[in-house]
Amino acid sequence: MATTIPPGRAADAARPGASVGRATATTGPSETVDVVVVGARCAGSATAIALARAGRRVVALDVARFPADTLSTHLLWPAGLAELRALGALDRVRALGAPPLPVAYAGAGDVAVRGGYTPVDGIDHGMCVRRTGLDAALVETARDAGAEVRDGVRATDVMRDDDGRAVGVRWRDRDGGEGTVRAALVVGADGRRSTVARSVGADVPYRDAPSGRACFYAYWSDPHPEWRHVAAQWREGRELGTAFPCDGDRTLVLVQPPMTRRDAFRGDVAAAYEATVASIPGLAERLTGAERITPVRSATDIASYFRHSSGPGWALAGDAGHFKDPVTAQGIRDALRYGRLLGEAAAPALDDPAALDAAVARWERGRERDCLEVFQWTNGLARGRAMSPLEVELYRAAERDATLARAMLDVFSRSRTPSSVVGPGRALRLLARMVARPGTPRRPVLASVADELATAARDARERRRVLRPTRTRRARPRTPAGPA
Ligand SMILES: Cc1cc2nc3c(=O)[nH]c(=O)nc-3n(C[C@H](O)[C@H](O)[C@H](O)COP(=O)(O)OP(=O)(O)OC[C@H]3O[C@@H](n4cnc5c(N)ncnc54)[C@H](O)[C@@H]3O)c2cc1C
Repeated sequence: MATTIPPGRAADAARPGASVGRATATTGPSETVDVVVVGARCAGSATAIALARAGRRVVALDVARFPADTLSTHLLWPAGLAELRALGALDRVRALGAPPLPVAYAGAGDVAVRGGYTPVDGIDHGMCVRRTGLDAALVETARDAGAEVRDGVRATDVMRDDDGRAVGVRWRDRDGGEGTVRAALVVGADGRRSTVARSVGADVPYRDAPSGRACFYAYWSDPHPEWRHVAAQWREGRELGTAFPCDGDRTLVLVQPPMTRRDAFRGDVAAAYEATVASIPGLAERLTGAERITPVRSATDIASYFRHSSGPGWALAGDAGHFKDPVTAQGIRDALRYGRLLGEAAAPALDDPAALDAAVARWERGRERDCLEVFQWTNGLARGRAMSPLEVELYRAAERDATLARAMLDVFSRSRTPSSVVGPGRALRLLARMVARPGTPRRPVLASVADELATAARDARERRRVLRPTRTRRARPRTPAGPA
């Protein structure tokens, strides 16, 4: 529903927590609330829910009109469902009818690992929920919590006062209406191409990694009830394909070819997609008798990053501030979790700008501390290479060892860190097993393992350096403050 903000809410400017800058040049309604959130999907709804629950007046603007799809696949590990529960949205999401996925399957050539998860807050399964329903459920939950979610409204830029402090946003709706929302805190939850990040000069990441893979996905019919509880992935050479049963009795089929094959998809994308599916034998077999029932969607411009995500009067939540390649399916969970934590951190501090900025800076640092290792691990999997000998040996070990298989899955579900499952000790034991096997080409295997250990050591050094307890990082806008 498109919304033009009714005039008269400017009376709210007297509310505590309101930060009022100079008069705006924008003609149109103006109002003041505690927090304005730009974007109302995973991160935006989560932030809004936490703030509204704390009794704060929050307005979330989204240019989309819900229910609306977005360019994203949508596998949730148990930790993602736990976040939906923490927000009070899980029952709504379950009602959409996606099957629980208690089993994960990872196939690579002649090796196949199957396993279950250590429960997260009692939840022992994943789920794959199409974004149209998932995001609408989040928006409804935010509205129920007391947040005002206005869809069909685009935030055009961030207003700042003479000191450069963010004091609100200007907006435009689809009918040409314009106005402003002033607030103590402006949250950009507006995705990878964030307007808020650009407006505050934080759009250039301070840490990034281009993806070595592209994404192409479509929905298929699913005539295989025996697979409807399994989230499955196959690796074949440099190719990677997944099949995740989802709501609507469909299966989401994503292929992530190496970026070097991107040109093959430039002409007939559907033909290239289907040829890729066919080139992954396990996936092709999984889809026997199934039909593709939607066009193919693609995302080929992917880079993972951290952006400076806090500054005077502003914060960046979800993809606006931090993005990981979809290969490990972490984005929705992290947008929900750190959106909620942002709202919880900001709510008690909104009446004191210095306390607010400090709380938001602490929140940013906590997110980086939690996510840096997963970012590094994801970048490794997104390289677009064939599995390394060490990875194949790990799969072989996990095929026979249910505890190891579970530990590997728990990394996806964030119950364990990647380095706690494959540290130098396990890597050397796997190496010993490989070289003891007759016929192993020792020289390339040793070179590959040495390369992986060097990467792991470099990543660990980066984590030690970045996460030193005394270090504080403040975001500095690149551009001078504009008039409010
Ligand atoms: C191809 C692909 C596959 C993925 N697969 C998975 C997966 O399987 N599992 C997983 O967990 N994650 C996955 N992700 C990541 C996931 O999509 C994101 O991490 C997640 O959507 C982040 O949520 P968000 O709320 O931060 O941003 P978004 O979901 O991008 O929402 C941003 C919102 O902001 C709105 N907006 C933007 N600009 C403005 C503006 N100026 N004014 C008002 N509104 C605005 C948009 O309309 C949008 O609704 C995938 C990503 C991609 C690209």
